Amino acid sequence: MIRIKKPRRSPAILQTRGRQASSRLRKMYDAAPDDYRSGARRFATRDFDRDIYGADEVKQALRKAQHDKCAFCESKVAHISHGDIEHFRPKAGYRQRPDGPLVRPGYYWLAYNWSNLFLCCTLCNQKFKSNHFPLADPSQRASSHHDDIRREQPMLLHPQADDPMEFLEFDREYLRPVDDHPRGRATIDLLGLNRPEMVERRRDALASIDCLLECRDLLAAQTKALPDPEGVKRLAAIEKQIRWYLSDAQSDSAEYAAMIRAALRVWTG
Ligand SMILES: [Zn+2]
Repeated sequence: MIRIKKPRRSPAILQTRGRQASSRLRKMYDAAPDDYRSGARRFATRDFDRDIYGADEVKQALRKAQHDKCAFCESKVAHISHGDIEHFRPKAGYRQRPDGPLVRPGYYWLAYNWSNLFLCCTLCNQKFKSNHFPLADPSQRASSHHDDIRREQPMLLHPQADDPMEFLEFDREYLRPVDDHPRGRATIDLLGLNRPEMVERRRDALASIDCLLECRDLLAAQTKALPDPEGVKRLAAIEKQIRWYLSDAQSDSAEYAAMIRAALRVWTG
């Protein structure tokens, strides 16, 4: 997980149709707040317009900001699926614990909110995160648009507001919380970020990096020892290419960039 930098200006459709749709939801709630709180009335799936928050222009903006990667596991999503639009704070209902009850309403007023939307892979979204959104102190939870979400302390790291590096670190292909931080731990567990198939993919990516690092260091040593100037030039060119691959592998757009950066830090001491 790396920090995502979204453009400040949200896609136009969220500012126009999104704002209207959000205002409609607020009015629905305000017309019968007690009913929504007691569960006698609830927002139905049709009350949320996927054509707005899932519009092409929203998806394209997120794909660009996230370099076609899942906001949570950093797998490239675009070439295997179009990726899901994920609401960080669940729009229809939430669970404090994975086996706890689904509490409604959810964060309906954030259904079209730019900072609440991310692109993520189907596994992270549907199999792991789903409606799970625990808070450190559930009594501070915002239960309607009249409450302030800034009082909440979500256990799940926000890919834009939080810097994942402060909470998560890699030991080779395994992710672990920094100093056993509870938010780091909760994020790993909640999203299944050490799920076996994920760890295997990261291990494969790391094997290529290990090989490149070894080649780079061997080449550097050999180049110094070579008497032949043409040979020196050729080896230096290959070494330069390897350095470029290594630099590319840790850029924001690279798959599993956070892990590769950690591996390179360990290798270079
Ligand atoms: Zn994912």
